[in-house]
Amino acid sequence: MDNKSIYQSLGISPKIYDFGNEILLSLKDRFDNIDKIAEINQCKVISAMQKNKVNATHFSASTGYGYNDNGRDVLERVYADTFHCEAALVRPQITCGTHALSLALSANLLPGDELLSPVGAPYDTLEEVIGIRNSVCSLKEYGVSYRQVDLLADGSFDYENIKKAINEKTKVITIQRSKGYQTRPSFSVKQIGELIAFVKGIKPDVICMVDNCYGEFVETIEPSDVGADMTVGSLIKNPGGGLAPIGGYICGRQDLIDRCGYRLTAPGLGSEVGANLGILTSLFEGFFLAPTVVAGALKGAVFAANIYEKLGFKVVPNSTESRHDIIQAVELKSPQRLIAFCRGIQAAAPVDSYVTPEPWDMPGYDSQVIMAAGAFIQGSSIELSADGPLREPYAVYFQGGLTWYHAKLGILMSLEKLHQEGLIDLKGGNK
Ligand SMILES: *Cc1c(COP(=O)(O)O)cnc(C)c1O
Repeated sequence: MDNKSIYQSLGISPKIYDFGNEILLSLKDRFDNIDKIAEINQCKVISAMQKNKVNATHFSASTGYGYNDNGRDVLERVYADTFHCEAALVRPQITCGTHALSLALSANLLPGDELLSPVGAPYDTLEEVIGIRNSVCSLKEYGVSYRQVDLLADGSFDYENIKKAINEKTKVITIQRSKGYQTRPSFSVKQIGELIAFVKGIKPDVICMVDNCYGEFVETIEPSDVGADMTVGSLIKNPGGGLAPIGGYICGRQDLIDRCGYRLTAPGLGSEVGANLGILTSLFEGFFLAPTVVAGALKGAVFAANIYEKLGFKVVPNSTESRHDIIQAVELKSPQRLIAFCRGIQAAAPVDSYVTPEPWDMPGYDSQVIMAAGAFIQGSSIELSADGPLREPYAVYFQGGLTWYHAKLGILMSLEKLHQEGLIDLKGGNK
């Protein structure tokens, strides 16, 4: 059986297969570059594992208090060394990315301190953490104030107003690497380094935290390599490699990470407690696989950008831009197309492929939202997933794919659905 017929047996018509293949031929250099980055990151992870003499005893389960959990401590050393940091907190007790960010902030901001975001509005869920939207237990409720400097119209940093915003109360700045669900560009690690240097030039002791969600292993350096004091993310995104069933991480300066440990558990206890509950193999192995998993997801994103740009849609990032995270947005311009796209992604999933995603009224959103995901780990967005609000410009945001081949199938299937329903013209010029 050749490739075309196996795809046909999965529901991809020869016409769509050929269309995709034609585009793939032009992506060889891009893919080679992605592989090169993955190779460097793979070596970084292996080197950290070797340096810390990872062995089978480090995979044992601990329960109860989790005192002297050597495997847990070695995993944290492996993260710290890969990110070139003094320390790391990597725990299943950190329940998600928002929790990790909230922990890093609340451990290091005291009443009277101010938090500054020099890159515009933070990720949705942080609005309640900070208290931008009133919320019980927010930083605001504890007497921490917040200031924000928006990006300039071209997406660059507003250095002049950032300088003005820094004052004697400014204790922490938060920089979000990925655009998340905004339309601004994602920042390169180099850009983040420039911003950190600028801020520290004004106030050297300010603590710089980077929300690294979706960014890990996309480049060969991480924010921690360019001066970030805390680098924070979720294990059900990039660094969990698809195997981590739960967790978050904070890497950075020893004194700041110590405080995060005390905030996570209790003053006096800190990171000494916290049983691993038997998931350490998944956390080690997932981290080991993460560079290649991220590479597969990136190939999918680049493939999709090129397909949909060729068809005449606006894609962010565009087909040729360099990548700083794994998210791809495509402005599909109609609700029918958004729905068909998501149904294609769902139909290509290894899990729940038979269900049909429907738009629904998701709490906290002012329009209906449609989501597609057929994941082994619930809610995991390093696995192939897509979603978007049903409003102009009907943009779908999609990310992930544990393997490039699955990402490819998902993207071809989305195209197949759009084509079957007569919603696109393969010759381009779609509006
Ligand atoms: C996903 C994400 C978060 C929050 O992570 P959750 O695990 O969903 O809580 C925060 N910031 C960015 C940029 C993200 O992509």
